[in-house]
Amino acid sequence: MKIMFLGTSHGVPAADRYCSCTALEINGDLYLIDAGAPATDLLLRQGLNPEKVKAIFTTHAHGDHVNGILSFADLANWYYKKTSVDIYMTEQAPIDGIISLVKACESGEFHSDRIRFSVVDQDFVYQDENLRVSLIPTKHMAGQGRPTYAILVESGGKAALFTGDMSGKLERGDFPKIAAERELDLVVSEMAHFGPDHVRPYLDTCKAKDVRFTHVFPLDKMDGIRAMNGAYPFPVTILNDGDVVEL
Ligand SMILES: [Zn+2]
Ligand SMILES: [Zn+2]
Repeated sequence: MKIMFLGTSHGVPAADRYCSCTALEINGDLYLIDAGAPATDLLLRQGLNPEKVKAIFTTHAHGDHVNGILSFADLANWYYKKTSVDIYMTEQAPIDGIISLVKACESGEFHSDRIRFSVVDQDFVYQDENLRVSLIPTKHMAGQGRPTYAILVESGGKAALFTGDMSGKLERGDFPKIAAERELDLVVSEMAHFGPDHVRPYLDTCKAKDVRFTHVFPLDKMDGIRAMNGAYPFPVTILNDGDVVEL
């Protein structure tokens, strides 16, 4: 599994970072974890064919994680006609909004046979010949009664956890427990809603081989993150746009 970090910014893009978007390449097929960035454009810049995207998984329906789905769906609808993609979102309203806008731009035509949207719940499991994807509920938007998830990707005997966004100061204790239970090959954690001090207790029990932070805000947390590297049996680093991890 090749993991390409296309967007590593927090809720707002930066001069050198797009919003959250990660591509997985497995046996020539592509998958996206969140698409807050212009995903089609960024895949093209990597020399990748957007028509190879089989599925898009999203952690929650904040714009910095889903805004790129609109342009992806629009281009898949009228131009990239070999696209056959499943797009999994956490709520129905943004799906309705995306389809409505694509239809408005394309005189009413929407190819729902090739561009298949669905709403997930915590029991969701995606499995094909390349990977298994499952969800772990988090409490990022529990205050609004809206669902949010961490995403666990398993492929070829390797496992990577993407936390998505979590609760403020991790006060709701929603850093996924699986990080303490399983020797995950990679944990990709956000760092916008809490600081190094809040996450340290979870890193103390973390069994991961590699922990990388993304979605860092404010940027002065970077020094705190770098200071954690060396304190654990696993490396603790900060992701940048364009980083690639092979598992
Ligand atoms: Zn976010
Ligand atoms: Zn969010």
